[in-house]
Amino acid sequence: MTAPGEILHTGAAEYPGLDNWRSLPLSQQPDWRGHEDFEDAYEQLSANPPLVFAGEVDKLKDRLAKVANGEAFLLQGGDCAETFDGVTADKISAKVKTILQMAVVLTYGASLPVVKMGRMAGQYAKPRSSDMETRGETTLPSFRGEIVNGFDFTPESRRPDPKRMVQAYHKSAATLNLVRAFTEGGFADLRAVQQWNKGFMENPAHTRYEQIAGEIDRAVRFMDACGVEFEGLKRTEFYAAHEALLLDYERALTRIDSRTGQPYVTSGHFVWIGERTRELDGAHVDYLSRVRNPLGVKLGPSTSPETALELINKLDPEREPGRLTFITRMGAKNIREKLPPLVEAVRDSGAKVVWVTDPMHGNTITAKNGYKTRRFDDIIDEVRGFFEVHRAAGTYPGGLHVEMTGDDVAECLGGSDVIDESAFDARYESLVDPRLNHKQSLELAFLVAEALTE
Ligand code: PEP
Ligand code: MN
Repeated sequence: MTAPGEILHTGAAEYPGLDNWRSLPLSQQPDWRGHEDFEDAYEQLSANPPLVFAGEVDKLKDRLAKVANGEAFLLQGGDCAETFDGVTADKISAKVKTILQMAVVLTYGASLPVVKMGRMAGQYAKPRSSDMETRGETTLPSFRGEIVNGFDFTPESRRPDPKRMVQAYHKSAATLNLVRAFTEGGFADLRAVQQWNKGFMENPAHTRYEQIAGEIDRAVRFMDACGVEFEGLKRTEFYAAHEALLLDYERALTRIDSRTGQPYVTSGHFVWIGERTRELDGAHVDYLSRVRNPLGVKLGPSTSPETALELINKLDPEREPGRLTFITRMGAKNIREKLPPLVEAVRDSGAKVVWVTDPMHGNTITAKNGYKTRRFDDIIDEVRGFFEVHRAAGTYPGGLHVEMTGDDVAECLGGSDVIDESAFDARYESLVDPRLNHKQSLELAFLVAEALTE
């Protein structure tokens, strides 16, 4: 007998339509099908246990249905690109800790539960603007994330290697294991998390948030004094999300859930389709339309209302609550002009999606010293624009999607503890896009909490 929720099949799932994508336009993939190790890597992944269970994925969909109804808020955060070397206890705990701290502040601001999700345990594949990169006289394949090739600019490192998919699977398993231990084992105790926020508040740069921090502190102490059962507050649900870019990896990790007989991507709870792979007739949209996970789609400033409605028809034909999240990344300059037509068209169609702001990807600039960066003020401006647009349309601004880390890096400009370009040489660590550091992430959470209580 199979218990409810148990995964019946091992091996790449058999299910009608799951291989349709193979005959459709497929962008942003490495050229590795003929590679001698490809079949072996694919088979290993197909035989490995799933990283997440279908029951958890369904629970997340229920949580997201609440977000779509304005009864919860979604926080998604993590690296632009995870790295294999970044899978250490210190780095994972700093990241989880920062997301939990942000979540406490946002819970207060929104007076609602916050669904916590990391761009973690699978965020290894990156879309690139060009297949090749040239430095001086040398042209090599672009870096596509450590699940595909290495960052070092040498022919050996840049050669796509399918064995890296298996390594990414194991690194994701190790990450998820620690995340589960932290969030189930007492690390996420609300009182401890609030204590960590006090450390942030001790810095004079952050006195403007004293009122909010003080109010959160009083609320926590009040619950404690009332003898509120803190057992439940010691644990928290924490979900894993990544861009479902590398379809060989996603296909090999797709499993059929025995309760429903439906396919699920088991590489993470939530997966999203990026701005560069959301063509309506492309492979990514087709593949993800056939799995039952909650899905995100990134929408940039060129998205038309018709495209948004078509994406809903393809990815959420049943209009299932919590199924579809639109993650808008318009840029601070565009959001007040480009977002309203989309929000209004979706609202008027009667469809319900979760609306999330990604205030990072529309605000990338090149610093004078050559680093890819973003200004903290632009990020804040896009978030404010997002709230303004949804207020005006009568729709619900459901969440925040950020590239962040728990470490003290210098990658984005500004913040109260000002980061300027001179810090980049010593403290810029990201292999791809610039992330908010620990303090900038918390400052953003306080600013959003302020906006939510205005
Ligand atoms: C990303 O999230 O790192 C990314 C590449 O985003 P987008 O698809 O929005 O460009
Ligand atoms: Mn990015």
